Amino acid sequence: MIPSYGGSILEIDLSRKRVERRSTPESLCKEYIGGKGFGTKMLYERVGGDVDPLSPDNILVISVGPTAGTKIPSASKANFNFKSPLTGGYAESHIGGYIAPKLKWAGYDMIMITGKSERPAYIQIDENGAEIRDASHLWGKTTYETEEILKKETDKNAATLEIGPAGENLVRFACICHAEGWRQAGRAGAGAVMGSKNLKAIVVISDQKEVEVADSDALDGLVKEVLDNIKRDPVGTLAENYRKYGTPLMVERSNLMKFFPTRYWHLVYFERFEKIGPKEMAKYVVSNRACWNCPLACGKLVEIKDGKYAGTRVEGPEYETLFAFGGLCEIDDFPAIAKLNDLCDMYGLDTITMGNVAGFAIEAYRLGKLKSERPLEYSDPESVIWLVEQVAFRKGVGDLLAEGVKKASENLNARELAVETKGLEPPGYDPRSLQGMALGYALSDRGACHLRALMFTVDLSGEVERYGIPLEKVPRYLDNEDRFNVFDCLMLCRFARRIYDWNRLARMIKALTGIDYGVDGLKTVSQRVQTLSRLFNLRCGFKAEDDTLPKRFFEEEVEVEGGRKVVVRRQELERAVKEYYRLRGWDERGIPLEQTLKKLGITS
Ligand code: SF4
Repeated sequence: MIPSYGGSILEIDLSRKRVERRSTPESLCKEYIGGKGFGTKMLYERVGGDVDPLSPDNILVISVGPTAGTKIPSASKANFNFKSPLTGGYAESHIGGYIAPKLKWAGYDMIMITGKSERPAYIQIDENGAEIRDASHLWGKTTYETEEILKKETDKNAATLEIGPAGENLVRFACICHAEGWRQAGRAGAGAVMGSKNLKAIVVISDQKEVEVADSDALDGLVKEVLDNIKRDPVGTLAENYRKYGTPLMVERSNLMKFFPTRYWHLVYFERFEKIGPKEMAKYVVSNRACWNCPLACGKLVEIKDGKYAGTRVEGPEYETLFAFGGLCEIDDFPAIAKLNDLCDMYGLDTITMGNVAGFAIEAYRLGKLKSERPLEYSDPESVIWLVEQVAFRKGVGDLLAEGVKKASENLNARELAVETKGLEPPGYDPRSLQGMALGYALSDRGACHLRALMFTVDLSGEVERYGIPLEKVPRYLDNEDRFNVFDCLMLCRFARRIYDWNRLARMIKALTGIDYGVDGLKTVSQRVQTLSRLFNLRCGFKAEDDTLPKRFFEEEVEVEGGRKVVVRRQELERAVKEYYRLRGWDERGIPLEQTLKKLGITS
């Protein structure tokens, strides 16, 4: 067994009630490292293009990296891969907390779940294997209730993953929750996949143990260097300010720099942003919390003590939730957004998509394209709270909206209003004011996503033109995508992006596993994973025409800094997309070339 791996893979077939345990193949570790690499490989091998994502034939892969459970700081993430019920294509989603180390300490690198249980079930995993158990008593419970009951029933120190009513009701953007509501695998509908399998929860029981690594002296040296770096770093995600305010700090910056999506993607500045910004939030923060072994501790527990939403206690709201409900729906009431966040966590809904869905619904209602049982309006928290309830339980207008923006807009014959890419609703960075993000939304394998390549960091660096997509942005995109693919194979947190540069990544993996990839070798692994996710999307019917943006970003100008009016220039985006294909070794239609597949060892 290669050092730093758990050594085993569990395959659980819920239809046949069968659990199989086997050794993690060394070749898989060498070619795909872990996390996203493992999950993408399994998705590609097991799921056909015509598989209904909500059928028993879909797979839910949970994988961790060689960093899990080791001393490496900010390496607490676990990865989910599945065919998305929201987009019909490749999906990955990550979760922090303490599930990843627990899986490693129990001896596992990957869990693969297929089939569908006849009755509601949960899976209990420990070092001896897995058991499928009855969950009839948990069906209908919120995520908070489910976790509390399961910990009482099994082990108070267990790590649990659970869905709420939204996942049970197959809301296509239902998420998976963990850690008493603190952490979610939010994007692309992993919770609906669990719901479609009648799988309410997964419980992992293990005790902390030392993970054997290839070179513990080298690893200790690297960890010391990283911790010193965190102490010294004066700016960015490592700064004191960040620890104090967390991601909501971005609300101020994005408004001052005019990229805060507002009024369902019509504006890039919310004039009342201070009412939902970091200083407002600070009034309600009662404690900080970190994922396992993370000195950055970005989690903030918020408690609303007075007013209409008194009694609300929630982790967050994070920047993405503040943008989704504050910006897109123009809600300028911080306690109301905390309440919305709490409801989404409790029912198991992705806040980014839910805020987009609410903004879309408000716009469609105002234009007379959507009929609703109650009026929908911007700046009206109560109507959005009502919408969340409707969607989670698929009641009334919520049944249509539970399908996500793309499908709902098709149903309403209102495609021109929809803001989505490959079926995924975008996060809080307007691609007209940050045009590296335009490239990111167009090219990301899971649809509009800020995390695959974090191009806002390039846009805001001042090193390249922010309001355009010159060709020089493309290699920057590729380099970011490669580095973050390696992050996602190792399962490092994005907020540690200033700590783990290429050199440290190569040294880290050598100290952990003994494998000396070098930077070029790591880039080859990234290329392999990216090419497989591309092949999967092509198999699902996506084409080069889908590597684009919604019409609004090409046609509707927004006013940015200095009063300048901007749109994304279609031709410039198309030229950059083609350049990306070329650099990836794909043809003009975005299809990987034979020689690329050969170089990467991809055979089928
Ligand atoms: S920075 Fe935040 S999300 Fe990332 S590992 Fe640390 S506590 Fe978790």
